[in-house]
Amino acid sequence: MSNRLLIIDDEPEFGNFVERIAQDAGFDVRVTTRAEDFKDAFKQWMPTAIVLDLVIPETDGIELLRWLISENCQAPVVILSGFDARILDAARRVGRERGLNIACALMKPVRAGDLKERLTALCKAEPAALNLLDLERALRNGEMFIFYQPKVSLENGALVGTEALLRWLHPQRGVVPTDQIITLAENTPLAELIGEFVMRQALAQQKAWAREGMDLPVSVNVSAASLYDEKLADRIASLCAHEEVSPEKLIVEITESAAMSHAVEALDILTRLRIKGFPLSIDDFGTGFSSLTRLQRVPATEIKIDRSFVSEAPTSQAALAIVKSVIGLAKNMNLTCVAEGIESARHYRMLSELGCEAGQGYAIAKPLAGDKLGAWKNTWVPPYQKRRYGPRKIESAPEEKSQQSLA
Ligand code: C2E
Ligand code: MG
Ligand code: MG
Repeated sequence: MSNRLLIIDDEPEFGNFVERIAQDAGFDVRVTTRAEDFKDAFKQWMPTAIVLDLVIPETDGIELLRWLISENCQAPVVILSGFDARILDAARRVGRERGLNIACALMKPVRAGDLKERLTALCKAEPAALNLLDLERALRNGEMFIFYQPKVSLENGALVGTEALLRWLHPQRGVVPTDQIITLAENTPLAELIGEFVMRQALAQQKAWAREGMDLPVSVNVSAASLYDEKLADRIASLCAHEEVSPEKLIVEITESAAMSHAVEALDILTRLRIKGFPLSIDDFGTGFSSLTRLQRVPATEIKIDRSFVSEAPTSQAALAIVKSVIGLAKNMNLTCVAEGIESARHYRMLSELGCEAGQGYAIAKPLAGDKLGAWKNTWVPPYQKRRYGPRKIESAPEEKSQQSLA
């Protein structure tokens, strides 16, 4: 991604002077002289750094700093101004105390060499790590939303459910990897807030699909830490009751390593979820080194074969052996078996022939927005039909181009 510097200065000559230096320092540059143009460019062009003059017609620099704070600006800001040091210092403090990243405040006239040194450092700097404050703002500002990945029967290609997957579209950084969000929130009060957000969204979406004739279960991932939360089962049950979704329509997914931990508390919570009627899925199965004895103790209804085994199954004997034995294990224990990471027609056919009941993966559909599920379903053609038709090839999975980056 390029380094983009947005400048606002009411003197065009000065703006152009900064522009030349910034280009030398490695930035793509835009110069604005009016607050409105600056705001538009900030929103659309998403600069990675900002140079701001404190004197702007129709407004002033402090007001613009406040606006940047309200926009959750993460980009470092260089304040440049002809005012004296005390005013500059006050402006810097106003920004910093409210969480803006003020890189420095420089007094005009500024020496080209000094400015270049500062801008070069900004251009090279890695963006600061995301923190809990960013996460909290993201939740509040509606930057988080849910995509849903269809799950289909590998017997007949029918849509049998979806999995809710959290997405964060950061205004400056773009899509933040989901694993990163979960790790950041883990063991903090935000984990519960995020969990509740995902659950509410997924339940509301389930209800909306049911109204369109797709009354299918939605799977929600639950973090390992929440298995130590005694109120989890009650909270999920009351969210379901509130949304009027029956428990069998909400599959709780928990990773193998979390589900199989020795903790008695975890087993207690999983059992309570089952008693309340929620199906329980063991995610990423095969990666957690669990023993069969422990698997037998967990009251699961489904296991999902981890995509690392599925993707290697066509080329690795060892991976194939694991896939086959998980499918056998699931059958013997009366659990639904789901293959994750079906990335090609070959994977689809192989898992289908091995008797795996259901699958998810890019060859079926990438995760998509809830309101796109109906359209996907109408155009979905399975690459292989076990019973009715012979094998049939498709070129690639149907998917929305615009959604690829979020999937
Ligand atoms: P997961 O539950 O095993 O979800 C499947 C992940 O594999 C998703 O990544 C999905 O986008 C990706 N995927 C699906 N099909 C394919 C495929 O064919 N090929 C490849 N290479 N990848 C595929 P995502 O959304 O980045 O999520 C990563 C993990 O983050 C999830 O793994 C889950 O453990 C966790 N996660 C996602 N959403 C939530 C959430 O709301 N709460 C919690 N606690 N964890 C979540
Ligand atoms: Mg999952
Ligand atoms: Mg998984």
